[in-house]
Amino acid sequence: MRDSLFELAPVTEPQRQYYFIENAASLIKLREAELLHPMTFHVTTFGCQMNAKDSEKMTGILTEMGLREVGDEYGADIVLYNTCTIRDNANQKFYGHLGTLNGKSHRNSDRIVAVCGCMMQEPDCVEKLKKSYGFVNIIFGTHNIYKLAELICRHLTGESHVIDIWDKPEEIVEDIPTVRKYPFKSGVNIMYGCNNYCTYCIVPYVRGNERSRDAGEIIKECEKLASEGVKEVMLLGQNVNSYGNGIEGSLSFPELLKEVEKVEGIERIRFMTSHPKDLSDELIQVMKASNKICRHIHLPLQSGSTRILKAMNRRYTKEQYLELAAKIRSELPDVAITTDIIVGFPGETTEDIDDTIDVIRKVRYDGAFTFIYSPRTGTPAASMDGRQSKEWIKAEFDRVLNAVQEESKAMAVRFMGNTESVLVEDVNEQDESLMTGRMSNNLMVHFPGEHSLIGKIVNVKLTECKGFYYMGEMV
Ligand code: SF4
Repeated sequence: MRDSLFELAPVTEPQRQYYFIENAASLIKLREAELLHPMTFHVTTFGCQMNAKDSEKMTGILTEMGLREVGDEYGADIVLYNTCTIRDNANQKFYGHLGTLNGKSHRNSDRIVAVCGCMMQEPDCVEKLKKSYGFVNIIFGTHNIYKLAELICRHLTGESHVIDIWDKPEEIVEDIPTVRKYPFKSGVNIMYGCNNYCTYCIVPYVRGNERSRDAGEIIKECEKLASEGVKEVMLLGQNVNSYGNGIEGSLSFPELLKEVEKVEGIERIRFMTSHPKDLSDELIQVMKASNKICRHIHLPLQSGSTRILKAMNRRYTKEQYLELAAKIRSELPDVAITTDIIVGFPGETTEDIDDTIDVIRKVRYDGAFTFIYSPRTGTPAASMDGRQSKEWIKAEFDRVLNAVQEESKAMAVRFMGNTESVLVEDVNEQDESLMTGRMSNNLMVHFPGEHSLIGKIVNVKLTECKGFYYMGEMV
């Protein structure tokens, strides 16, 4: 039976995966008859919005196979981990989950454990799983997440340990079943991978080089999302500004934005992540002319020191970054700018941190993610000398964080008294009578309202600034 199952499989995708989804569903039925209960699954996602989008696809595939999603990570019949390896603490967090899962094996001794994502593109991590976590049945990477049904078929037809990791990506496969976390907003991949090779970053090694999706497929997906009631899309890429680079006749990113803007039903467009060396004047003008593109730009700085930026291979200087940020602030006065900053990069000195704080004070970010440098095996920076002591890094990290918080708190008040359009996302966690929503500039606001407002865009007058969020009233 097994041989014919794989011999008869179509070669082209996604037909091949729909074939395996169908066959997996039959194999699941057989297994349910043995287990005497309908099978369930649970997906744990670590890391970024790209991973979250991949998990929505894997949730779609498992649901299409007839499985039911449950919130119980340790009791489910299929337990799937989508890993991240951007910093070491992400790896440790995942091993923590595996350890707990193993400790709770009595909860479901028949479970199938599958692991995928960026960490699995690192050979050392795969070896560690094989050696220390033998109960993991299926291991795959970032380039073949759409093959989940095929891998489960391999396991259910006798392969106790399935390992399928690709060194590099193949074709971009469209039309994979997807179950979205939010009915009113959705991430939309516009490209995969990255060509920038910042010296501290593992992404190009685990997600491969840049591949841009066909613009027609992106628009088709946005139209489908709009028909399903989605109001807001987040265009996703490691470096969205290089969308279409190197593809004959492709739209550029600003041109793609203009096409997404035409999709009826989509009322808000966000995008992440931009690279300062590629963010164009054309993009700023397209945002200026748009009433759908949200007033938020995430513009990672990483360091304010030109010397460190060079060592990071970021390919812009402190001055170029400041000039770009000033241009954005003057052309788009209501825009919120957020950023990423790394502290503790090899060779960094107090003067370099002073430069970083100088940029923070000049750009006046609305928010920032600040990280302590984490060496990633295989990246150039991991073998660079000049790491400072933990104490020095901690003290400088606090200096940077303090500057960020001071500036973003001061900047937040500038919207006080405004009436802003807000996408209502949820009930307030602390107070059921309050709704929580997000403004175009990405700031959160809480205001009295009905649960039925979730997914709607409403106007809210901002009545009180609470530092990093607002209180308001619907108008
Ligand atoms: S731009 Fe740099 S930091 Fe961002 S994903 Fe690419 S290599 Fe990593």
